[in-house]
Amino acid sequence: MKGIPISDSIRTGIGADDLRQAFLDNLVCALGRLPAYSTRHDHYLALAMTVRDHVMRRGVRCFEKGDNLLVRRVAYFSAEFLPGPHLGNHLLNLGLTESIRKMLDGLGINLDDLLAEEEEPGLGNGGLGRLASCYLDSLATVGVQSVGYGIRYEFGIFDQTIRDGWQIQGTDKWLHGGNPWEVHRPGAVQDVMFGGHTEPWQDESDSPRKRWVPSIVIRGEAYDTPISGYDSDTCALMRLWKAEAVESFDFSAFNHGDYDRAVEQKVASENLSKVLYPNDELHRGKELRLKQQYFFTCCALQDMLRILSLRGAPPESFHSNWAVQLNDTHPAIAVAELMRLLVDQHGLGWDVAWKVTRSTFSYTNHTLLPEALERWPVDMIGGLLPRHLEIIYEINARFLDEVRAAFPGDDERLARLSLIDESGPRYVRMANLACVGSQTVNGVAELHSKLLRQTVLADFAALWPEKFTNVTNGVTPRRFVALANPGLGKLLAKVAGKNWPGDLEKLHKLEPHAEDPAFRQEWREVKLSNKRHLASLIAERTGIEVDPTSLFDVQVKRIHEYKRQHLNLLHVLTLYLRLKKDPKAEVPARTFIFGGKAAPGYFLAKRIIRLATAAGELINHDRDIAGRIKVVFFPDFNVRNGQSIYPAVDLSEQISLAGMEASGTGNMKMSLNGALTIGTLDGANVEIREAVGEENFFLFGLNAAEVPALKHGGYRPRDRYESDPLLREVIDFLTSGALGEDRDLFQPLVDNLLYHDPYLLLADYRGYLNAQQRVSELWMDPEAWTRASILNTARMGRFSSDRSIRDYCQRVWKVNVKKLKK
Ligand SMILES: *Cc1c(COP(=O)(O)O)cnc(C)c1O
Repeated sequence: MKGIPISDSIRTGIGADDLRQAFLDNLVCALGRLPAYSTRHDHYLALAMTVRDHVMRRGVRCFEKGDNLLVRRVAYFSAEFLPGPHLGNHLLNLGLTESIRKMLDGLGINLDDLLAEEEEPGLGNGGLGRLASCYLDSLATVGVQSVGYGIRYEFGIFDQTIRDGWQIQGTDKWLHGGNPWEVHRPGAVQDVMFGGHTEPWQDESDSPRKRWVPSIVIRGEAYDTPISGYDSDTCALMRLWKAEAVESFDFSAFNHGDYDRAVEQKVASENLSKVLYPNDELHRGKELRLKQQYFFTCCALQDMLRILSLRGAPPESFHSNWAVQLNDTHPAIAVAELMRLLVDQHGLGWDVAWKVTRSTFSYTNHTLLPEALERWPVDMIGGLLPRHLEIIYEINARFLDEVRAAFPGDDERLARLSLIDESGPRYVRMANLACVGSQTVNGVAELHSKLLRQTVLADFAALWPEKFTNVTNGVTPRRFVALANPGLGKLLAKVAGKNWPGDLEKLHKLEPHAEDPAFRQEWREVKLSNKRHLASLIAERTGIEVDPTSLFDVQVKRIHEYKRQHLNLLHVLTLYLRLKKDPKAEVPARTFIFGGKAAPGYFLAKRIIRLATAAGELINHDRDIAGRIKVVFFPDFNVRNGQSIYPAVDLSEQISLAGMEASGTGNMKMSLNGALTIGTLDGANVEIREAVGEENFFLFGLNAAEVPALKHGGYRPRDRYESDPLLREVIDFLTSGALGEDRDLFQPLVDNLLYHDPYLLLADYRGYLNAQQRVSELWMDPEAWTRASILNTARMGRFSSDRSIRDYCQRVWKVNVKKLKK
């Protein structure tokens, strides 16, 4: 249907009558509901469909424009996306919140009730998945044509509940109420092969070729979720793949009465996209995980080749039509897959295909933790992806020739750079594959990028220094400020103009207001009201009553030893012991709030949660303490809960051991919402501190250079314990029986700290206490605290993910972005 215009209609009109009619039409025609009998969930679905229509129309128009102009599109490959609830965000982006609210009011429906109906897609573990979603939001906002490719897990990250102080994992049935945001695209199916063997053959010109004869084929079905941009006519697409059996049954087996075998294959195929692996920063080497990684990258690349041919462009031009970003090494097998598609399927010569491949990919590293670096047994790859193993060997052979030429006789370097780890059982090193196959390699904060060049990827940086760059992470100010903190949003609009979410540097206009006592008063009122709201959620979810005027000291993020939630707890218990001994001690009222999920198999992380809940049980009920300090574990930390928590933070805990947190983004969300940070010189904390001013940041702890020095100098945590009476007292307290009748409960944590302490808690303990003392002192001067709080927000503009995306466009993808409006 060439030449058919995408016209406006009632469906996407923004007048009051159009909105009302569109909503009722969806309720009646799309859902088949009688308005009189319709439920709240029906209303949510009908509203979501109405809003989706608006977003879709933009999406289709924008796609048409991109194809007409042949722009280079960005494909963001990520095994995880953590978008959060869509409805409120779209309404904000489209500027429809108030007109929709009014329209619904007219029908006796409350918008907030409908917003609460939405299940969030928990298709990620934490920071990495959330970053992918912030980036889609910003890509749409700054006007870049883009697709986020990933997996449509049927079950996302588990639901966390707390029972008797322990984490309990529940199944995340996010699709059960129906998902109105996605559109199934039966036309975009892709076949994905696994197993079998390869065969040589010769083409018409007698050139040797390879053919892959798989043992299994699985079908990928595309599900599209449009992602709107703020005040933008561009729309990004999140295209997620679901695995299906190619045939619903193996009919021959079925007809022979072998029902079990027939069903087995179908179930095995569909298992592929069944569930997200709940490990954050830990590579466990499970075969199903490798299958997932290959599955979605294979679907994505074939889909992109299909779109390329719709443009009438040849496969050799793949890289000028697409820039692919690899979000960590999870999609790194794509390097070998694109080579296979270009060479085996499209008949390109190796050298041309390699040039195209290397000009297509860029790789973002997210961690320096050795246990997170992905490597797959050679035999596993060979069994599942025999052709890819051959291709990886070929890439490696050619690459190592290049290395030999640059560093003759340096066999150790060769062994380190090789795509194959041959130091023991053989493994394919995915970071090496990603580096060799990419145009650009980046870390996610200045410090992290520097450490990357000095440690994990030092040999690659020596070989190709120009490949390496930094793009500091960012967060979307739409979801995490405007939507999460409307009170602050209003205040910001007054001083920075109403378009501040589209140009976050405008927040600098706040600075002079930090000196205005009346403005500071307004600022405190906004924070207090956010804290009241959070206090009511805490009461509802945990039964704990907290004082909204107390200092809200918050650490919410995945539970991990390197993030050191247990260091925070050592401080909590130290304060407690101090108050017990000296009830007159000047300790301002504080509420310690923890939240975050522990990987189900991570023993110590689960004990850390138990320690937080045990501390709460003891302290919250201790009459001597009389509510001066309280400890809360907020269950099920996810994007939605984050939106209620981040705006209510006074003190942001960013206390990872220096050199361990690649960037962090929770740190940015909190500081943007006016929290002061207590933190180490780790990840983006370094840049946040520079931006907000060192006088507005509570710094403590070893720096990244001191950490290895201390470790190699023979660090003995037990000596710290022996020589510091306060430390000894609090460590002994953990196994004293005061935290519950089972004295052994925290013995593993204590043993870990006394005899290993891999994250140097005992070394940083004193510095941390001192910094916490400075926090208390500043808190007792509310005007000074508020001033610092305002300056934090005012100076955080560069941590908008719009800035990160502009950096990627300029330094990595070489695509144009919209200019900022004046
Ligand atoms: C921002 C965010 C994170 C990342 O938090 P960090 O403090 O940077 O580790 C994790 N989970 C959710 C739900 C988030 O919104």
